[in-house]
Amino acid sequence: MISRSPPREDRPDWRRELSEAYRDPLELLRMLELDSEKIGYAPAAAHLFPFRVTRYYANLIEPRTPADPLLLQILPQTQEMLSATGFEAEPLAESRDAQGNSLLAKYQQRVLLMVSGACAIHCRYCFRRSFPYNDFVGHRRLSDAITRLEQDPEIKEVILSGGDPLVIDDAALGELVRRLEAVPHVSRLRIHSRLPVVLPSRLTPGLLEVLRATRLRTVLVLHINHPREVTQALGDALIPWRQSGLTLLNQAVLLRGVNDDPETLEELSEKLFDAGVLPYYVHLLDRVSGSAHFEVTDARAREIETDLRTRLPGYLMPRFVREVNGEPYKVPLAAA
Ligand SMILES: *Cc1c(COP(=O)(O)O)cnc(C)c1O
Ligand code: SF4
Repeated sequence: MISRSPPREDRPDWRRELSEAYRDPLELLRMLELDSEKIGYAPAAAHLFPFRVTRYYANLIEPRTPADPLLLQILPQTQEMLSATGFEAEPLAESRDAQGNSLLAKYQQRVLLMVSGACAIHCRYCFRRSFPYNDFVGHRRLSDAITRLEQDPEIKEVILSGGDPLVIDDAALGELVRRLEAVPHVSRLRIHSRLPVVLPSRLTPGLLEVLRATRLRTVLVLHINHPREVTQALGDALIPWRQSGLTLLNQAVLLRGVNDDPETLEELSEKLFDAGVLPYYVHLLDRVSGSAHFEVTDARAREIETDLRTRLPGYLMPRFVREVNGEPYKVPLAAA
């Protein structure tokens, strides 16, 4: 018999999984055995910001549980249709900072590079749900961004953002990383992504190879909000990543009904550490229209932060911060 390498077909193809994501909330609700009439599902909310979730993530949701913290993050709800004072389409007014390229430069040393407007999942609390991606993404804007980087020796770190930067494939990402590392004063690369959390198969050997091959010191910041999102599948997929010495961090958003208690955040920090990931930030909600029902009051957030501090070693304690327009850094909750 002719010997051949083992079949590869059984390796999950993340692109296929991505294309098979649920886009019809009713299909998901049927799968979860939930009655759309009884649980506050609002088709109108899905018109404003489309519904989208991977099958992998949908399978982590408990059936027949309307208050499931994972379901709440993705289900278009009637509450999104209520207007609330202080909640706006673009709370951070980021498009004001548009410079005609893919960069968002608000802080010293580091800039956001908007790689794509697409995501694998649509999080109902997303502050960029109305973001004018067309003003930022595209080949021309990316090339202009790199020209701008070349001209500004102050920039040491490029943060890939979006949307989700990992929706682009490994070849495109490799090409982008090579262009960035050709800028001599750039020394660090950071990737902010929720994709591995909702599709662990995205952590391909090819992606890791791209990041190991670059001279840039690389940080991957995952966006995990709830301990049940730290699955065995994600932990397994991260093993080669932590062995390769990349820095793995997490940021969460503090969300009412999802993770607004110290027990849940304590468990999150512990499970992250088990997976080789350190807690970085817990963000207070950015006040985007349609997300008021997720807001946790400052008083409650402070209580949670203090309680959490008594439970965890310092290195597992995330920084509680919020974004304040015009401030040169994420403002600590204690100072806000
Ligand atoms: C959050 C953010 C960063 C990164 O801030 P760090 O505190 O370094 O994590 C950079 N640029 C923009 C525009 C941001 O919103
Ligand atoms: S993955 Fe991030 S950018 Fe995409 S919808 Fe969720 S919060 Fe928004």
